[in-house]
Amino acid sequence: PQLLDDEEGGVLFVFSSAFSSSSSGYGYASIEKQRQRLPVYKYRTAILYLVETHATTIIVGETGSGKTTQIPQYLKEAGWADGGLVIACTQPRRLAVQAVASRVAEEMGVKLGEEVGYTIRFEDVTDTDKTRIKFLTDGVLLREMMDDPLLTKYSVIMIDEAHERSISTDILLGLLKKIQKRRPELRLIIASATIEAKAMSAFFQTRRRRAVESVEPPLSMEPAILSVEGRGFNVQIHYVEEPVSDYVQAAISTVQLIHDKEPYGDILVFLTGQDDIDAAVKLINEEARNGGKNSSGLFALPLYSGLSRAEQELIFSPTPRGKRKVVVSTNIAETSLTLEGIVYVVDSGFSKQRFYNPITDIENLIVAPISKASARQRAGRAGRVRPGKCYRLYTEEYFLNEMSAEGIPEIQRSNLVSCVIQLKALGIDNILGFDWLASPSPEAMIRALEVLYSLGVLDDDAKLTSPVGFQVAEIPLDPMISKMILASNQLSCSEEVLTIAAVLSIQSIWFIERGIQKEMDEAKLRFAAAEGDHVTFLNVYKGFLRSGKSSKWCYKNYINYHSMKTVVEIREQLRRIAQRLGIVLKSCDRDMQAVRKAVTAGFFANACRIEPYSHNGMYKTVRTSQEVYIHPSSVLFRVNPKWVVYQSIVSTDRQYMRNVISIDPSSLTEVAPHFYRQQGPIF
Ligand code: ADP
Ligand code: MG
Repeated sequence: PQLLDDEEGGVLFVFSSAFSSSSSGYGYASIEKQRQRLPVYKYRTAILYLVETHATTIIVGETGSGKTTQIPQYLKEAGWADGGLVIACTQPRRLAVQAVASRVAEEMGVKLGEEVGYTIRFEDVTDTDKTRIKFLTDGVLLREMMDDPLLTKYSVIMIDEAHERSISTDILLGLLKKIQKRRPELRLIIASATIEAKAMSAFFQTRRRRAVESVEPPLSMEPAILSVEGRGFNVQIHYVEEPVSDYVQAAISTVQLIHDKEPYGDILVFLTGQDDIDAAVKLINEEARNGGKNSSGLFALPLYSGLSRAEQELIFSPTPRGKRKVVVSTNIAETSLTLEGIVYVVDSGFSKQRFYNPITDIENLIVAPISKASARQRAGRAGRVRPGKCYRLYTEEYFLNEMSAEGIPEIQRSNLVSCVIQLKALGIDNILGFDWLASPSPEAMIRALEVLYSLGVLDDDAKLTSPVGFQVAEIPLDPMISKMILASNQLSCSEEVLTIAAVLSIQSIWFIERGIQKEMDEAKLRFAAAEGDHVTFLNVYKGFLRSGKSSKWCYKNYINYHSMKTVVEIREQLRRIAQRLGIVLKSCDRDMQAVRKAVTAGFFANACRIEPYSHNGMYKTVRTSQEVYIHPSSVLFRVNPKWVVYQSIVSTDRQYMRNVISIDPSSLTEVAPHFYRQQGPIF
């Protein structure tokens, strides 16, 4: 390699790319051959050399170049996992963790969960003695620091997908920098699909430029940057001439158009979430089944988090000859996962993003425009096997003049309650003074401190309270849910509340399909409870157990079987955690008053009151007087009780409350006197 001194201090390694683009097809080569064909293979020696000699190595390489699947294997082959040590590789997304871990296990010819394993929240597929390469979410690694602050079992930690800038990645980078001061032998690899490398490098720059001499060969504390040149093929970009009003419909038409006019090659469609993806998949498949003029040979598959293992495998299996696969995906396929055989990309220009407004104290998941950087990444997915085409469902003028250049790091658009509690649990007291890659807003920080104080998690000195604060931090859930669980102990309804907590921590237990609203609503009525969604969930759970966990029963009742199985698993894990925390398992039988109180004890900050003269079900949040409405999927939709608390807000045309329960307003001041104190007489 040729070394260039980078003006910002990091050493930039520029390699002339010598990758010969082999045009032979994929799928038939042996795994070893496939591995050697990946762009990173040419850099194997360089990567190992840099990791050996540098505390931190930043690797930038196009999606699909082999960073995630290969680098951990190279490290293992070079002995980094000898002596019982473990190589870790983090991903922001659970599905990506599962997919890459199973791929790597397959490449190494080992059983998943032994030498190669993975851990995501509520699912640990590792073996304490055998696992040498471990894939995990960034959030799980952060949690591991609570038990082992210096992460001593790891020799190398690869923070992958760093360009995504998830909250946990940002926090981890700050903490790992601290750990390195105590454990210089720990190697850090930061892998990213886009060049934010300089900012990262500046972040890891140490003031003293000396190498640590005691280690052989001398270990440089300066970060090294390595750029892996891919061999993406050219991608032709097409724009729509007029803005489209319905991007789901536009995406489906575009798929048809490609199928009619273009030679073989699979299609990747970027939509935003489970509902629009399921709708598109269904329409494409129906069209194909009904022998729509030219749809023969076309079949569509969904790709989003929460898919079962079997569904995931379908995505990666090669397309049968004479067929054309359409994968309709969230932005998980943007950089986290590479699908072979994609030649056409259809980009809606949107993704679901989290936005938090500290003034209203509302965090939303909204469908929002992506950035130019994302749009480029999406287009790049079409150039993997041969020159491809990308169809953007927005105008060129829009791309050039209106799309922002880069996304905003998640830490700057999120509610910080979980983030603060985790840092506090790790003994970081001065959170504003923490070494942030990008600082969160002080307003958001203050809001988070307020809520945590009212939850009884922080004391007057903003330190974790004992035992409540430490217990809440121990439970791997949103602190509001954790507090609800703790409160259930005194209220003697922990059996019920554990079930509710499990349901609240997954997306939805309902089976969602467009066009059968009436049937779905009727099914829901069979379980609906007057108190609201939380108690309804209890009814569904009871019914599911009574049916013997039957998939038929779920199907009949428009309930998502896969979700219910997950609920049962999560509940079991929560039960174990609760027992460890000394929570006595007790049922309140029919006393739903106790359940409502426990929910209020966790979610009081999300209390709302109906507008006295509202005819359209308008509520206002108690704290910030924001207009909100009950979501149509809630059993309280149109019932409109006077006082409610909600779990989360989604906004489309309005701000809708999801998972809503009616409450007794007097319990608000009872469970959170500080929080509601300044409001004056609110009743
Ligand atoms: P990067 O991390 O640089 O984006 P990866 O290591 O994820 O690249 O991918 C390298 C190769 O491995 C790609 O060709 C990809 O298609 C393949 N691959 C990754 N995961 C799987 C999987 N679960 N099944 C089949 N192939 C996979
Ligand atoms: Mg990757």
